[in-house]
Amino acid sequence: MPGKGEKVAIGIDLGTTYSCAAVWRNDRVEMIVNDQGNRTTPSYVAFTDSQRMIGDPAFNMAACNPTNTVYDAKRLIGREFSDPIVQSDMKLWPFKVIGGINDKPNIVVNYNGEEKHFAAEEISSMVLTKIREIAEVYLGSTVKDVVITVPAYFNDSQRQATRDAGVIAGLNVMRIINEPTAAAIAYGLDKKPFNHDHKHVFVFDLGGGTLDVSILTFDKNGITTKATAGDTHLGGQDFDNTMVNHFVKEFLRKHKIDISGDRKALRRLKSACEKAKRILSSNTETTIEIECLHQGIDFFSPISRAKFEEVNNNHFNKCMEIAEKCLIDSGLDKSSIHDVVLVGGSTRIVKVQQILSDFFEGKELCKSINADEAIACGAAVHASILNGDFSEKVSVLRSREVIPLSLGLEKHGGIMSTMIPRNTLIPTSMEQVFTTHLHNQTNILIHVYEGERKITMGNNLLGKFVLEIPPAPAGIPQIMVSFQIDNDGILHVSATEKFLGVKKNVTIRNDKGRLSKEEIERMIEEAEKYKDEDKMYRKKVETRNALEKCAYNMRNAINDKEIMMKLSLEDKEVIDNTIDSVLLWLDDNVIVEQHDFEYYTNLLSSVFDPIILKMKTMSLMIKRNIGYH
Ligand code: ADP
Ligand code: MG
Repeated sequence: MPGKGEKVAIGIDLGTTYSCAAVWRNDRVEMIVNDQGNRTTPSYVAFTDSQRMIGDPAFNMAACNPTNTVYDAKRLIGREFSDPIVQSDMKLWPFKVIGGINDKPNIVVNYNGEEKHFAAEEISSMVLTKIREIAEVYLGSTVKDVVITVPAYFNDSQRQATRDAGVIAGLNVMRIINEPTAAAIAYGLDKKPFNHDHKHVFVFDLGGGTLDVSILTFDKNGITTKATAGDTHLGGQDFDNTMVNHFVKEFLRKHKIDISGDRKALRRLKSACEKAKRILSSNTETTIEIECLHQGIDFFSPISRAKFEEVNNNHFNKCMEIAEKCLIDSGLDKSSIHDVVLVGGSTRIVKVQQILSDFFEGKELCKSINADEAIACGAAVHASILNGDFSEKVSVLRSREVIPLSLGLEKHGGIMSTMIPRNTLIPTSMEQVFTTHLHNQTNILIHVYEGERKITMGNNLLGKFVLEIPPAPAGIPQIMVSFQIDNDGILHVSATEKFLGVKKNVTIRNDKGRLSKEEIERMIEEAEKYKDEDKMYRKKVETRNALEKCAYNMRNAINDKEIMMKLSLEDKEVIDNTIDSVLLWLDDNVIVEQHDFEYYTNLLSSVFDPIILKMKTMSLMIKRNIGYH
């Protein structure tokens, strides 16, 4: 069992809006708490003229630094810039995204006075770096080995890009596992031993901006995803937005002013609505209170849980439509679902729980683990299984995932030849022999696709490569193509010319839109650089605070009655003026170079020290009181 100072492996739920981590210690899962005392950390990174912030401080700054506060990297990771999903998501982001080399999206921000471009992998790696730091402080040991979760529908390139983000953060990504699987593992362990022949688990994950519904089947062979359904734009933020609209109308009614054009007011209102929404998950009413919301008007307005449910009714109905669709796709009947697992912060909403329970005819829902923590819990269990910390009784839960989309090759005429059908358990491999259709063909172009369409044009091209072969009549060459999917669901394809004596073997991984080895190495170096910059920044802040404290301590000291009596008026004035000038300078210079702070610290001491010396008897006492040395 890992204790303080020992090597541990943690599970990380790298979420679209919030991330969290957990560890298996002392025979149970422990959630890792961040420096703010929170168990979830916003997946936000903010850049300013002087520093980089990750997590809570970035989230809190978002309203005043919108164009340089990056979130939703998970919506971009492993996708191409021209992907219609990226094109439509971009319209909703206040930060800029441009198309880069190989159609890779690049996030553009202003950092330290310079324009910087970041890949989604880099932003996610920053979030992972933060989670790692939090875990290291919490556990008191270094953390390198991790299991990271991804949505069940993530394709090969999204999984690989997530793995790359881990590598850039200096982590050893032991395994990438599916989020619903992780949640089910957390419950499988917590509630009952695995004693059914098979078990169908319905996982309903309603997070900050997405709904992912999955139906999993546990049996002796492992875990199979029977069906998935979802909405990439339905989640906590939508509930917040409908509340904002409600209060904008309320403001109009009460004060005859439309605040819908006041962006700052809207942002403050949204943040208050999110807090109110969370309160309404445990209380039946709460009040929004915002001072000087618009034109100096204070806004106070109560909201009941019933009202919250009414304004969000459409969203709740949509949730149920998706739940229904998933069930239909799985071919299962409601009554054959053994467990319903709630995941994602938004399933704490009472109405969501109620409609789901009604949908399953009063079935008790699995919610004993905090919904926004269940995925990290399962990932932690999985990490400790891989780390060898687990006893046999639970090793049956060594999960086996399935591939979400069929994988195959393009045959002549643009036809998809499926090699591995969707929902095949992984790891797996498949070989098939192909031949040429032209005389004296000297090379064969192999296109690898994923998708369910018969025509490759409708599927997703994962990669291509050329295999050179000696000329031969059509139909004679024997090309053995092999597909291998490893434990992470990552695909390796190779092709070998079998019989004509030429052994050419090409292996491709899905490199389309993927970072090259060199790029990853560069990003690792840069990540180290950013870390050093963060450290330097923190040091500056500490020096600044020390200087400020020293100035205030001096002021308190010279205002002390006993000291004042012994101080000449002239000396007091000199010290007062110096303190004033230092405080004024601090007001105008929030963060500057370390040597500037040192200069002013020396200035204070150069004025103060001789005077202290003069007051021989008092000197010791004053110095002790001030403590600036
Ligand atoms: P992600 O979408 O990144 O997976 P989470 O599962 O942590 O994120 O869900 C975050 C969402 O959950 C946010 O919109 C947040 O407002 C919402 N949320 C968190 N706690 C509560 C609560 N007690 N009641 C209602 N919503 C909540
Ligand atoms: Mg989530």
